[in-house]
Amino acid sequence: MPTLWRSLNALAVCLAQAVAQGQAVAEPPQIAWRPRVPLEGSVILLGLRVPYSAADSVVAVQGELAGEALHFERVADEFHTIAAVPLGAATGVPVRVTIVRTDGASDTVVASLPVGRRRAPRERLHAAPDLVQPPESLAERIGAEREQVEEVRRRAHDTPRLWREPFMRPRPGAVTGRFGVARVFNGMLRSRHLGVDFAGRPGAAVRAANRGVVALVADLYLSGTTILIDHGAGLVTGYFHLSRALVSGGDTVGRGQLIGHVGASGRVTGPHLHWLAAYGSLSVDPLGLVNLDFDAPLTFGIR
Ligand SMILES: [Zn+2]
Repeated sequence: MPTLWRSLNALAVCLAQAVAQGQAVAEPPQIAWRPRVPLEGSVILLGLRVPYSAADSVVAVQGELAGEALHFERVADEFHTIAAVPLGAATGVPVRVTIVRTDGASDTVVASLPVGRRRAPRERLHAAPDLVQPPESLAERIGAEREQVEEVRRRAHDTPRLWREPFMRPRPGAVTGRFGVARVFNGMLRSRHLGVDFAGRPGAAVRAANRGVVALVADLYLSGTTILIDHGAGLVTGYFHLSRALVSGGDTVGRGQLIGHVGASGRVTGPHLHWLAAYGSLSVDPLGLVNLDFDAPLTFGIR
């Protein structure tokens, strides 16, 4: 394996330099994450620490978790990225990180993340059959709209991180529907709730959870008047069932900016805001973003 051979050679050179300079022998790169046991369907902060003697020679850190690319940035002497653990993941989600050095050599570090089961209640709903199962004639429209949304989510991996401050809730007040709740419509399990619902009178303010670029404003069959914001580094937030959108595609919005009004558009039984958060194709609990501090140092070497 030439790559491994190059790595070993590079390591031998590193060790020789460290010994010559009287430094401690280089340790292998380490991966750490927070929270220590992430829940399925949540965002995490993932970090990498490379040995001090090698940190300056790193030209790129690449990686992947659950099929989604990672976007490492240097934070002091660590490299940080957001990542997501899929809803429904069993314990032992693999993460793979590759460190490319100036001399062209690379090291790959692999770890396995423990995953906590999300405890979410079942919600029994009764609704008109039309609302539960849209008529066949709409299948094409719904499919095309889903593809539009998925495209925005894919592209967020190509946008640089546009935010520096923590995420905030788009509305004050009570959460009326939690993430991950199993929805049983008319006695049949139809779906899991892939967002968080906030109460709100029609016309109440909806604010951008963080800085980003408006990637979609559209009237969609299921989610009604919908705004998607691309925050970059893989992250998208969505605001569904609005009565009115106050922004247009391509607008840069600031954290806390008024972007729309609560409504009851799309497939709903009453006015509320459905707030979505996604890391690429993975929907995650948006409330987990609110407590995420990208720059906080991680704890390495303790498991
Ligand atoms: Zn909802």
